[in-house]
Amino acid sequence: MRVVRFYAPRDLRVEDAPEPVAGPGGLVVRVRNCSVCGTDAKIWRSGHPNLSPPRVLGHEVAGEVVEVGEGAGGWSVGDRVQVIAAIPDGTCHECRHGWMTVCPNQERIGYQHDGGFAERMRVPAQVLAVDGVNRVPEGLSFAEASVAEPLSCVINGQEQARVGEGQTVVVVGAGPIGCLHVRLARARGAAQVFLIELSAGRLALAAGLVGPDEAIDASANDTVTAVRGLTGGRGADVVIVAAGSGQAQQDALAMAARRGTVSFFGGLPRDRPTVTLDANVVHYREVGVVGANGSSPAHNRQALVLIASGAVPVADLITHRLPLERTLEGIHAVTRGEAIKVTVEPAG
Ligand SMILES: [Zn+2]
Repeated sequence: MRVVRFYAPRDLRVEDAPEPVAGPGGLVVRVRNCSVCGTDAKIWRSGHPNLSPPRVLGHEVAGEVVEVGEGAGGWSVGDRVQVIAAIPDGTCHECRHGWMTVCPNQERIGYQHDGGFAERMRVPAQVLAVDGVNRVPEGLSFAEASVAEPLSCVINGQEQARVGEGQTVVVVGAGPIGCLHVRLARARGAAQVFLIELSAGRLALAAGLVGPDEAIDASANDTVTAVRGLTGGRGADVVIVAAGSGQAQQDALAMAARRGTVSFFGGLPRDRPTVTLDANVVHYREVGVVGANGSSPAHNRQALVLIASGAVPVADLITHRLPLERTLEGIHAVTRGEAIKVTVEPAG
């Protein structure tokens, strides 16, 4: 079968690989859609400490079961499934407390396990052990189902930030994740959602699709002043930074309302992970700062329900569909901000 393997930064190869085998407790899935994540672009550029090459990339996976391993109960050939990306061990202190997103023993599809940029993918037994394979609801396409994984991370982020009824929410970063944040915030009852982005082209594309109450071009405006102006000086209840920018994180604190919450949804570059925050803003204004690390199996299930019910539509966010051979083109389209969501559709 054909796969897309990462060997080293800027060395991604489309090549032949042996057919995967389900093994005890596992499955083999014929990949119908594997969507491209911003992280895939980051890996292509500079690798990742948790990724051991050569490795088949891709972790936003939906497809059909083609082999059921011994003991993988409940699954049949032909089942339409979506697969989690982050695999918690399900047994540690954090997992037992229900904090599966911060499991210290977490492994990932496309990092320690071969991923979905392939005609077929093995779903390891440890995925099934934590209930990490979900049935794709009737009427939902594989392409839409593949977006459940990034949406599940957005759900985790908004749970941590407690986005809710009547709030003013700011989303910084208008990539696919930012678009999902705007839509989910509305689904959770936010009264107003503002979208901030440094690239005017990407902002126009995203705003045209998800229709924020205000689209703020950060290249031409002081975003802190803009948000304060739009909120009568009060600031936003929640500010979600879905961009890998320390400056954006600092600005987020300055645009948060009293008792507001700032979400550092996006990570910073590993060689520059520090920012300077005005601690007195946290202290006197009682602003909370939260993180977000991937998603749990339960978040993936919630994401499929939100997509299938129409609460968070994703079909229109998929702007590019590419065959496996053109995966790298899709990664470049994501990097350049020409695409919202790119999905790869392996043939065969
Ligand atoms: Zn754990």
